[in-house]
Amino acid sequence: MSSPPTGLPALAAKIRRCTWCDLSGSRTHAVPGEGPRNARLVLVGEAPGRNEDAEGRPFVGLAGRVLDEALARAGISRTRTFITNTVKCRPPGNRRPRAKELAACRPYLLAQFAAVRPSAIVTLGQSAAKDVLGPSASLATTRGRWTDFGGTPVLATYHPAAILYNRRLFRILVADLRKARQRMEAG
Ligand code: SF4
Repeated sequence: MSSPPTGLPALAAKIRRCTWCDLSGSRTHAVPGEGPRNARLVLVGEAPGRNEDAEGRPFVGLAGRVLDEALARAGISRTRTFITNTVKCRPPGNRRPRAKELAACRPYLLAQFAAVRPSAIVTLGQSAAKDVLGPSASLATTRGRWTDFGGTPVLATYHPAAILYNRRLFRILVADLRKARQRMEAG
C-alpha cells in the first residue's frame, strides 16, 4: 500500500482501481466523490449504497434526494460542495464499514481534505463522525456543534438516510447545514 496521490483527478483515478481492502472484491464501481477543487464545504457520508455502487457517484439514491432537498433548504448549492464517503466502495448488503476498511480508506479521505482545503467539513451520520473526529465521538455529543479537525471546523449531523426513517430529523439536518453555510460564507 503506497501513499495516495495528490490532486482530485489523480486521487479519483487511483480510488477507481484501488485494492487496498476487501471491499474492492464486491464493488461494481468505486465512488471517489465529486465536487470542485475550490469547494468551501466537504460533506462526508458513510459508504456508497446500491445506487451509488451502480453509478459510481455519491448520494444518488433516496438518501441523496433527501440530501439535495436539505442542501436546497439550507441555501447550499450541491455543485459547489465536495461530497465523499469514509469508504469509497460499497460494503456488501450495506453493512457498516469495518475498522480495517475504514483504516485502509482513510488516506484517501485525508488526501481529499488536503486537496480541497474547505472552510468547513460536515460529517453525515455516526460512522462518519467517528471516522473524522475519533472513536469516542458520538452524534449525541457532537451533533450540531463545531469541533476542529487539523484546523478545519467540523460539524457532525444526521445521515440523510436517517431522515427516511424519521422525517422529524429533517428540520435538524437543515438547521445544521445552515450553520455550515454561515461558516462557509464567513470563511
Ligand atoms: S474501500 Fe477504499 S481502501 Fe477499500 S478498496 Fe475501496 S477505495 Fe480502496
